[in-house]
Amino acid sequence: METLTNFVAGRWVGSRTTEFLDVHNPATGEVIARAPLSTGEDLDAAVASAKKAFPGWRDTPPVVRARTMFRFRELLEENFEEIARTVTREHGKTLDESRGSVRRGIECVEVACGTPSLMMGYGLENIATGIDCNVIRQPLGVCAAIAPFNFPAMVPLWFLPFAVATGNTFIVKPSEQVPLTQRLIVELLARCGLPPGVVGLVNGGRTVVEAICDHPDIRAVSFVGSTEVARAVYRRGTHAGKRVQALGGAKNFIVVMPDADLDRTIEIVTESFFGCAGERCLAGSVLLPVGPVHAEARDRLLASARALRVGDGSEAGVGMGPVISSGHRERVLGYIEKGIAEGAKLVLDGRANPVADRPKGFFLGPTLFDGVDSSMTIGREEIFGPVASITPVRTLEDAIAVMRAHPNANATSIFTSSGKAAREYARLATASMVGVNIGVAAPMAQFPFGGAKDSFFGDLKAHGRDAYEFYTDKKVVISRWF
Ligand code: NAD
Repeated sequence: METLTNFVAGRWVGSRTTEFLDVHNPATGEVIARAPLSTGEDLDAAVASAKKAFPGWRDTPPVVRARTMFRFRELLEENFEEIARTVTREHGKTLDESRGSVRRGIECVEVACGTPSLMMGYGLENIATGIDCNVIRQPLGVCAAIAPFNFPAMVPLWFLPFAVATGNTFIVKPSEQVPLTQRLIVELLARCGLPPGVVGLVNGGRTVVEAICDHPDIRAVSFVGSTEVARAVYRRGTHAGKRVQALGGAKNFIVVMPDADLDRTIEIVTESFFGCAGERCLAGSVLLPVGPVHAEARDRLLASARALRVGDGSEAGVGMGPVISSGHRERVLGYIEKGIAEGAKLVLDGRANPVADRPKGFFLGPTLFDGVDSSMTIGREEIFGPVASITPVRTLEDAIAVMRAHPNANATSIFTSSGKAAREYARLATASMVGVNIGVAAPMAQFPFGGAKDSFFGDLKAHGRDAYEFYTDKKVVISRWF
């Protein structure tokens, strides 16, 4: 069994820990590697080498730093299929979903190739007679990112290319449940000619996360994960004087108006609820059918969920893979039991493993509840599995009220053929990522990614222009020459 190592000062080194976690292929249940739960000392070593590398990397011209991103992009393309297969192997999602996520990650690298332009400052001559004022952007120092399990390739790439191209040094802590993809990506990055220490990788869990938050030599932290941990990381990191952006959990509402094109809507909504086995922070979670569309929307969603083929994500024709772990499967099953106990109507029961030839896989079938309201646990909490709820509402105003009342505000969508309804919904939605006839409203690399309320802690979001604000300090130089 392979035991993974950390990447420190340009070399793969063993952790000092005595604790390891098994990494599984969720489709087979088989153990495929062991991830070290690294210690604070392991992190210290990575930070020391990143700190040492910083002055040289900061002083490397931006065009030269960008060139390493061009090389990185080429290597990601050349190894595209292997990366996607690694994502599927350790996460379980379908190969198409993995490919899509790797593509999204590469797009971040492509944007970061434009860093010499995107990092520019601005200035004004003669702000007072004979005095000029210029803003220059400078990198911060050592930055770190902490990733969740659901997008092993894409989420770290929301941060790494921007941090590194702007001249920071960078440490990534992958999710201990899916460490293999990042190992592969960092191996590729190491072939791009980066000086040792510019990028480091430290495997682990809570101990490493807390050490990142507290470390005096780390200047900025990007976190993606569940709301409770996001809140804790934000508090702890900002308390220690760092810049922190912490993207948290979600409960995403999808409104279906009576004038929606139901054929297209149901196809898209099915993918939003059950694609990636519901393990997307942008996944639809609660359907809000407005008025008379309720019965037809429910029946069609039921039929299309039933038609989904569940299986090993590496096989062609599979529409939904397993959930990440047996523990998570138990957690999702617990939510289904609670839904039944609290009076929701179970119209599709996915509790039995629907994949006969993979008895040890962490499978669930698509599950659908009707008659859910926000007082019920399944209407309130993030399930992060293939369990969809329907909360019928009378009017668009009622739908807006339900969505606005929820503490999470990551993404939401409306399906309608009315521009007026769409405009009203987008304007009043509390969520920061809004889809109009789009099931998964994922901003691309040029735009900011992140939610609001309990789905986001911080000011500057992931990628887009925000990345340049987050990873640089704006220095103002006011000069007069005698
Ligand atoms: P998680 O919060 O359990 O773990 C995220 C990271 O935090 C991991 O690297 C983990 O090692 C670490 N961690 C876990 N518990 C910790 C603790 N108590 N203290 C310190 N660190 C800890 O999240 P997950 O289960 O890996 O990912 C799923 C969650 O991530 C969902 O809630 C999902 O909505 C969210 N997510 C959000 C976005 C977004 O853009 N807002 C994107 C992807 C995932």
